[in-house]
Order: sequence, then structure tokens, then C-alpha cells
Amino acid sequence: MQNVYIDFDGVLGVFDTSKSLEEVAAAGYSLTLPMIQNMCQAVNMLRLDPDLNKRYDVKLLSAIINDQAGDDKTEVLRREFDDDFADKAVFVRYGESKAPYAQDNILLDDFSHNLHEWESNGGIGIKVYNGINGNHGSWHGYAVQTTARPEVIYHTVKGILNEIHA
Ligand SMILES: [Mg+2]
Repeated sequence: MQNVYIDFDGVLGVFDTSKSLEEVAAAGYSLTLPMIQNMCQAVNMLRLDPDLNKRYDVKLLSAIINDQAGDDKTEVLRREFDDDFADKAVFVRYGESKAPYAQDNILLDDFSHNLHEWESNGGIGIKVYNGINGNHGSWHGYAVQTTARPEVIYHTVKGILNEIHA
């Protein structure tokens, strides 16, 4: 079984660039964030797809500033998805690499640095363009757009997974 890891900030939840680190670190911060509905719906379609279920486990992989932020994000997953998705969420600390999870696994992330690191460590990255990022043009791999309809995001990711698997 391979893992398809989904980033939180800028992928499932709107990333608010105006917030300070202090505000992000405050209890309850993630609970009030607007969600990126197209991505949330597409992730649910991927999670519940019977073909993909046999080969892939879809789970969150997110960086957090403190334990409270992890608890808050878990609560958001419980609210927006279900207990299963919330309970298997994986967290790393801010400044820590996601790369230890990369080997043979897939990562959907909005931050090219994470994706480059991921691919250097034996994984495959899928860049999520959310309208804020992508200004440096350093990513030339697989990609999806949060403005696309959920079905389009779902079919795009499924197509990528099938190509990788082939
Ligand atoms: Mg992110």
C-alpha cells in the first residue's frame, strides 16, 4: 500500500498570508479558516474511490507550530471529512522536512520546496496551485489547480496515480 499525502495549509484550508506566526500559533486558529471546498471534495472522492482504495491510503501530512495546532487541524478534519481521515493524520513540526515520508509515496502540496525535497527522497510530488503560489515557476512536475471543479481535480490526480502505477 502506498500513501497519498495531502498538505493542509494552502491545499485543504485557505492560506492567509497576512497572518503573523503568533496568530497562526494561537489556539483555535485553524478552526476558523475557510476551507478550499473544491480540494476537500476532490480529496474525499480520491479517498472513497474503490479502485484507488486497494492501492493507496490517502492521509494528511501537515506542518504544525505546536501541539495545539495539531489538535485544531485534527478537529477540522473530523468536521470536514470523518474520524478515519482525522485519526490517521500525520504531523511534522514547522521547519522539519516532510521528506522522511517520501519513499514510494505521493505528496500534494502547494509549496515547491517541499515537492522538490519529496522527489529527491524517492517520492512523487503533485503541485497544488491555489492562486497565491506558483510565482517562481520552479516546478515542472505534475500539478492541479484549486479553481478546477472537484471532479476535474479528482480525475487529474487519479490519472497521475494510474500513470505512476503503470
Ligand atoms: Mg502548504
